[in-house]
Amino acid sequence: MRIVSDQERKQYQHVWVLAEQRCGRMETVTFELLGAARRLADRLACEVWCVVLGHQLEEELTSCFVYGADRVLAVDAPELADLLDLPCANTLARLIRKHRPEIVLAGATMYGRSVVPRTAGMIEAGLTADCTGLDIEEDSRLLLQTRPAFGGNIMATIKCSDHLPQMATVRPRVMTVPEADQSRKGQIIREPFVSEDISAAMKLIKSEIDQSRVASLSDAHIIIAGGRGVRGEKGFELLKRLAYRLGGAVGATRAAVDAGWIEYAHQIGQTGQTVQPRVYIACGISGQIQHLVGMQSADLIIAINSDPRAPLMQVADYAVVGDLFKIIPAFEEEILRL
Ligand SMILES: Cc1cc2nc3c(=O)[nH]c(=O)nc-3n(C[C@H](O)[C@H](O)[C@H](O)COP(=O)(O)OP(=O)(O)OC[C@H]3O[C@@H](n4cnc5c(N)ncnc54)[C@H](O)[C@@H]3O)c2cc1C
Repeated sequence: MRIVSDQERKQYQHVWVLAEQRCGRMETVTFELLGAARRLADRLACEVWCVVLGHQLEEELTSCFVYGADRVLAVDAPELADLLDLPCANTLARLIRKHRPEIVLAGATMYGRSVVPRTAGMIEAGLTADCTGLDIEEDSRLLLQTRPAFGGNIMATIKCSDHLPQMATVRPRVMTVPEADQSRKGQIIREPFVSEDISAAMKLIKSEIDQSRVASLSDAHIIIAGGRGVRGEKGFELLKRLAYRLGGAVGATRAAVDAGWIEYAHQIGQTGQTVQPRVYIACGISGQIQHLVGMQSADLIIAINSDPRAPLMQVADYAVVGDLFKIIPAFEEEILRL
């Protein structure tokens, strides 16, 4: 909605998070966004509302309070059980028109990337996709939305000054999950599902769990990632074995994925996943910016590379110079001795 007067602007209040759930469980990105929303709402002296669309999610609603929500806006209907884009986008647009939030955040996930742009189009709001940082501009109260631009070579900060609500999607694992506060309570507001929100344009035929996602990168504490230096599928077997020994997951650069050595589900970076493990071991990865944006918030980065001048060797906490085909087996041997 285009804002023409200060009076109109004042009617928009609170920071919303569009919750994301799968198979009846809240996804971690919801809690990450609640933490970010809490920080913004504290700056704006307003509330955090969590919008939960789905079916039979009663037990999950209270978890939103624990991670920072003041209110939960819940729409529970069998028609929302499959989380089809159009019914969800129609419902969200209807709720926004009614309650007028100032800011709406969602995960830059398959779900958020598909529902939120549709919603923004319906209500004529601006949307910044794939944000990596959010802040509030002191005097204007505007949301400062930072995201990589021009292929990740610069970071752009975007403001949406003429339209409300200000909408942004944020990649999973970019924000940290806040400490759970079990004593926090809040109010649940229930809204009905209306038949006009159903769309005949979409029908779910079948849903299947993606078996290639066996390595859950997003939840792994240790990630062993390989790049072009790994030289092929056989090289990745070496990494998989190390990951197995350490209880970690395997990641990859786009170069390795494009070469067909490993599935896309393992790709880390601008066009892959963003990860935040405790330990990230990069093997044969040069460290171009498009890769760095996906892993630079790891707690500890170990890089193994034959080229000491590779960019990743400059950002690593431990830079190991040498041939990964000699270093990894030696490392594995040491682990077996422990
Ligand atoms: C729009 C866009 C989006 C992109 N998105 C992504 C993305 O999401 N993720 C991503 O990763 N990339 C992405 N890229 C690609 C990115 O720019 C790089 O091309 C890519 O990350 C390079 O992968 P690499 O490090 O595996 O390969 P290289 O840059 O070729 O590096 C290989 C490294 O291996 C080292 N090496 C070689 N042999 C050995 C050995 N035996 N032992 C130790 N080290 C060795 C070399 O010294 C070198 O540093 C994107 C690019 C564009 C333009």
